[in-house]
Amino acid sequence: MNILVINCGSSSLKFQLIDSESEKVIAKGLCERIGIEGSRIVYQKPGADKKITEAPMQDHKAAIGMVIDALTDGQDGVVKHLSEIGAVGHRIVHGGEKFASSTKIDDTVLAAIEECSELAPLHNPANLIGIRACAELMPGTPMVAVFDTAFHQTMPEEAYLYGIPYRYYEKDKIRRYGFHGTSHSYVSKRAAEVIGEDIHKLKLIVCHLGNGASVSAVKYGESVDTSMGLTPLEGLIMGTRSGDLDPAIVEFIAHKEGMTLEEVMRVLNKESGVLGLSGGFSSDFRDLEDSYHAGKPEGTRAMKAFAYRVAKYIGAYTAAMNGVDGICFTAGLGENSPLIREMVCGYLGYLGVSLDEEQNAKRGEDLIVSTADSKTKILVIPTNEELAIARETYALVK
Ligand code: AMP
Repeated sequence: MNILVINCGSSSLKFQLIDSESEKVIAKGLCERIGIEGSRIVYQKPGADKKITEAPMQDHKAAIGMVIDALTDGQDGVVKHLSEIGAVGHRIVHGGEKFASSTKIDDTVLAAIEECSELAPLHNPANLIGIRACAELMPGTPMVAVFDTAFHQTMPEEAYLYGIPYRYYEKDKIRRYGFHGTSHSYVSKRAAEVIGEDIHKLKLIVCHLGNGASVSAVKYGESVDTSMGLTPLEGLIMGTRSGDLDPAIVEFIAHKEGMTLEEVMRVLNKESGVLGLSGGFSSDFRDLEDSYHAGKPEGTRAMKAFAYRVAKYIGAYTAAMNGVDGICFTAGLGENSPLIREMVCGYLGYLGVSLDEEQNAKRGEDLIVSTADSKTKILVIPTNEELAIARETYALVK
């Protein structure tokens, strides 16, 4: 069955058409600048050049219309008719406590996702627009919602509660939810396969290190803790997000700089992380690595602080699970940077970690990059959130 995977952002829409049997990507692409001047669709078939078409898209419905046109196009399309698309899988950022797994979309589910919008005001409304646009343009095609938060719903209370009055949890549902769940789930399952052991016998730590970054503790196949919280701002130092900090800093900056709460939150979300630490030099780790190798302070302090924070979380999650069998690196940075893996693993001597330099220099495939006698295994597992969404979707509609 052909599954269309849709990931709707506020002004962008990523898509992939995946054959559920071969699990191959049939076509993929991206609509950019939706609702803004200069909107365009980038469309690509495997092995072919990208086709970029500039066209006005006033909203997400127009964007999905363009995606359907591209997929069914007589010349460059991959299906003859819409009926060849068996189902649509939507990535939904926040499922709150309502969704502990993926679910087929109906009116009740739509209303529940809407209720979760309060927790993710930038993301869920865009996701909902995507669902509604597909429902209009592809009537009768089953749709599935796959939530970023669902995998972490197995966290115990002591991991998800904050040390604030309990009434805020009871009344407003303020708690740790965690994100990147589809990736943490996919990578931990794949890691168990690569190790060759039943996931229900393994204690794994997954480090999803991209522009957004999070760590999770996956004990016997279930997430028991993760570094992102109520929102994706908590935890690791990220590209532009601060991660953990003393909450009093918010008030301190607001007073000192004469800023509103919204302005301070903008600084913490958009101007902080390695971008902020490098004095505004770059949020891209390729630039930071160049700076680090050149011995310049901007990149060096940002990379060191980033790696230190990852190592601290690994220590915390090792304690939370009373041990760890494997530590997995994934996402843009985790998959592609031997240096960051080396810097993080430099802290893990107490876990008997020994990196295999030759293996660690490779990229692009599932790898064990620790030596055969390393007490804890270090793995690189390329994440594939789209494939995970397609699998979940197929499982619910087949
Ligand atoms: P993602 O959010 O998963 O797409 O990851 C984006 C991050 O991965 C950016 O900070 C990139 O700089 C980083 N990244 C991608 N490729 C490399 C590479 N070859 N070396 C170091 N960092 C990389």
